[in-house]
Amino acid sequence: MEDIEREPEEPPAKGRPPHPWEHVPAAQWNDWRWQLANRLKSIEQLAEVIHLTPSEEIALQSSKHFRVAIPPYFASLMDPNDPDCPIRRQVVPTADELVPFEAEMEDSLAEDAHSPMPGLVHRYPDRVLMLVTTQCASYCRYCTRSRLVGDAHVQFSQADYQRQIAYIASTPQVRDVLISGGDPLTMPVKALDQILAGLRSIPHVEVIRIGTRVPVFLPQRIDEELINCLRKYHPLWMNIHFNHPKEISPEVEAALTKLADAGIPLGSQSVLLAGINDCPNIMMELSHKLLRNRVRPYYLYQCDLVHGAGHFRTPVSKGIEIMEALRGHTSGFGIPTYVIDAPAGGGKIPILPNYLLSMSDSRVVVRNYEGFISTYSQPTNYRPHDTKNCPYCQNSASEGGQKGVAALLSGERLEITPEGWHETHHREAPEPVSLPHRQRAKVIR
Ligand SMILES: *Cc1c(COP(=O)(O)O)cnc(C)c1O
Ligand code: SF4
Repeated sequence: MEDIEREPEEPPAKGRPPHPWEHVPAAQWNDWRWQLANRLKSIEQLAEVIHLTPSEEIALQSSKHFRVAIPPYFASLMDPNDPDCPIRRQVVPTADELVPFEAEMEDSLAEDAHSPMPGLVHRYPDRVLMLVTTQCASYCRYCTRSRLVGDAHVQFSQADYQRQIAYIASTPQVRDVLISGGDPLTMPVKALDQILAGLRSIPHVEVIRIGTRVPVFLPQRIDEELINCLRKYHPLWMNIHFNHPKEISPEVEAALTKLADAGIPLGSQSVLLAGINDCPNIMMELSHKLLRNRVRPYYLYQCDLVHGAGHFRTPVSKGIEIMEALRGHTSGFGIPTYVIDAPAGGGKIPILPNYLLSMSDSRVVVRNYEGFISTYSQPTNYRPHDTKNCPYCQNSASEGGQKGVAALLSGERLEITPEGWHETHHREAPEPVSLPHRQRAKVIR
């Protein structure tokens, strides 16, 4: 039936290029070391697997492109004939990524400015991000950290890890350490084990999290050796970078089963990408497939203002539309939080459609996903929480200057003022023009 309906101008379907891995024995194919060693890096290697477009050829021939290295397993998921294939678009460059866009920044999240030492980003009061490697199993074209990821000659050293761990050990408010990179699961298990052991020896580190894309790019890597290492360090959480339901192959499902069976709570983080997953139905399908594999959607990121990612950016309205299409329509625990990671180091800011329509002393007016408008009656006899006699309030951790808007609500602070606000508003009657500057300053005091 499809053949009959095919548009006449559509090019005839090309066959798959000769599959270069046809004779690879299963034992090798399933060996992650073989997968890593045989990653596709050059235009010649890629041309054996997919029909390259002129735009892909330009990008692959450019000396300036961000690193390309695609494990044969992940390459085998690409559609050889479809330049818009969502798997292919994530890892094969196009000429678009060579073109700078107006708002782009070198380090859009200002991570370097928030680093007390190489590889450690301390932005939030009680948790830190620890970058432990510059290597990944493959390289996402829109990577936020492309400024430091992918360079085979730049690597963190043992001394860097020790300095990072020493900082955490001497900073008692850090109770949650997020290990990322690069991809921590590309490290030798021994090196990863040492870092995890170092963190676990710090009594105030309650939770360790790993951010990774290895289960997607290289599911073969989730082997017994790695699992046995990870399960020693509970509570250990893992967030896996998933963008599209097509990434969840039987191999990936097997890897997720091993991780979940090892007691590791699994989350997913996605980046909203034009032409890849900027569709409520794709995101719904991704969510359902993740939940079936015991992975809970965690964040959906607005694409960062990073070089090479311009053509992947969507308007923020697309993210709101996706959130609108998920809430109420599917399991609540299948809905990620949509965030903008604010430029200049503002951190993750949640963005939602509005559900609160209006409010009075007695009632709140809300709407649901169907557009049904309802009221919630406020209590008339609410006794405010007794902060002074609440042991949790009395013992709550100090957040230094980071209490923010919560401090306004609690009355600890009365205002948050933009830089220069007081000076701007310290207005004086105009002075006689002839008065010299120094004298005028004296008059003011
Ligand atoms: C994302 C991030 C974290 C963790 O944030 P959560 O909202 O707790 O997941 C911590 N530090 C930095 C620098 C981050 O970018
Ligand atoms: S896996 Fe993560 S760090 Fe590595 S290239 Fe992709 S987005 Fe960047």
